[in-house]
Amino acid sequence: MRQSTKLKVQRIRHILQSSTLVQSANRHQPASLQEYSIPRERMVARLREHYSIKDPKVLEAMRNVPRHFFVPEALRGRAYGDHALPISASQTISQPFIVARMTELLELDGSSRVLEIGAGSGYQTAVLSKIAAQVYSIERIGDLAREAQTRIRQLEIYNATVKCFDGTLGWAAHAPYDGILVAAGGPTIPEPLIAQLKVGGRLVVPVGESREAQRLIRVIKTEQGKKVEDHGACAFVPLIGQHGWAEK
Ligand code: SAH
Repeated sequence: MRQSTKLKVQRIRHILQSSTLVQSANRHQPASLQEYSIPRERMVARLREHYSIKDPKVLEAMRNVPRHFFVPEALRGRAYGDHALPISASQTISQPFIVARMTELLELDGSSRVLEIGAGSGYQTAVLSKIAAQVYSIERIGDLAREAQTRIRQLEIYNATVKCFDGTLGWAAHAPYDGILVAAGGPTIPEPLIAQLKVGGRLVVPVGESREAQRLIRVIKTEQGKKVEDHGACAFVPLIGQHGWAEK
């Protein structure tokens, strides 16, 4: 082969190889993350600058979960706004700030085992799965639990499981947990959840005297008992179950 032809072949091969590289890099990023990347970045900036979310692991997790994938199709354009949104079965996907704040209060790392009560759409489950080693999530409404599990698998997340039962009882089979997050508001702190926490573990739970309004409570389990902190007012859908509100 003449020298110039050889060079041309090499150049073409190089171009082909680099375009294959670009394609396979894109193939590893789920299509859903390529969409809405600008509003998602704006949401992360708002969490950091306006809401003072400081844990870089939490900000990175929120950057790496396509929130629009978890909301009804008609609401996708509003997925990254500063608000909660309705999902099916009269439930809601929490405001991004609440998801970030609750996750930050859990103080997770790559070795944490986490229990979540109230999977809803599965969005918070996906965020937790990006930081923790293993996430066990409970949802009392069967259709929501199934849909949440399907979305999580579609996003190729394999360290999170969603099951359908009353989460106020906890999930003893996988206890003890480093962190427990309750995404619905009950009248008191469910006792089984404290029992299933490791010493030093964190439980974040909305607690309120009425079904409509709560305080965001963090419980840290200690050798002697527990430390309870109040992190301000919040409004969640009701926690319904044996250690929650009665079904109406
Ligand atoms: N974190 C969710 C939002 C959850 S809304 C998200 O990111 O989409 C609260 C959810 O808690 C609802 O889906 C509701 O059905 C569920 N829930 C209420 N009581 C529950 C209980 N005792 N056990 C499990 N799930 C419960």
